[in-house]
Amino acid sequence: MSIQNIFSLEGKVALITGGGSGIGFYIAQCMIQAGAKVVITGRRETVLQEAVAALGAGSSYFVNDITDLKSIPALISDIESKVGPIDILINNAGINMKKHAVEVTDEDFDRIIQTNLHAVFSITRECGKRMIERKKGSIIMITSMAALYGIDRVVAYTASKSAVGGMVKALTTEFSPYNVRINAIAPGFIETPMMLTAMNGDPARRDKAMGRTPMGTWGKPDDIGWAAVFLASEASKFITGVSLPVDGGNSIGF
Ligand code: NDP
Repeated sequence: MSIQNIFSLEGKVALITGGGSGIGFYIAQCMIQAGAKVVITGRRETVLQEAVAALGAGSSYFVNDITDLKSIPALISDIESKVGPIDILINNAGINMKKHAVEVTDEDFDRIIQTNLHAVFSITRECGKRMIERKKGSIIMITSMAALYGIDRVVAYTASKSAVGGMVKALTTEFSPYNVRINAIAPGFIETPMMLTAMNGDPARRDKAMGRTPMGTWGKPDDIGWAAVFLASEASKFITGVSLPVDGGNSIGF
């Protein structure tokens, strides 16, 4: 197989939750460049419309709030009947909240767990059962360095992302016999509007973040996008159950 073909996603359909902005948008852009058809989802239709206009041919969007768990089977069914069988699922949509643990309310905790964990499970279950039937598929969870070590004031987020890391291990044992792979990408500090807004308002935190990144720079959202293309492609066909840090060495620390 040629070097182009081994990374090619030609003929594949990729679903990217939260693909209208930030990291998800760049994953979609990289996947389009690799030849996939992409479907992006999110709650804000205008954001999705603009994203699809920028992504161009081969992209489409579906408006959906992933915390509406009951809507997920119909969403996946709708996507498959309008666009085609989903070969690649990227569970990217996620939310964060910066609060001291003692100030986190039960509602705060539930909202983060519902978005970052329960919805991820429901979408994975729905796509997974279809992939199992077809005996092919690649599922990629976007977790976080918070799944690899402790970070202050993000207790619910850390719990949710660590649990998704555990889900990857459990599902690897169940999905592998059906040629369905499942992996995670754990991004470090990536230059997205959400992250820059949070950090620019807090220079001490920004300096601390860069101070613990051995490469000393922010990651770009397409660093995550190309890692996702690799994990979705034939080039990684014997890789499953891993959590790949894409973080400039952050998870090693120094
Ligand atoms: P953004 O806030 O830019 O993007 C999050 C996306 O998720 C948005 O498109 C948003 O769309 C969507 N989303 C959020 N809640 C829901 C919901 N209930 N239903 C449907 N879609 C939803 O964040 P990033 O791009 O920075 O983050 C993307 C992923 O990467 C997240 O899982 C995050 O935890 C992870 N990550 C990011 C890091 C970084 O440095 N940026 C570091 C480590 C991990 P809408 O609001 O329109 O619904």
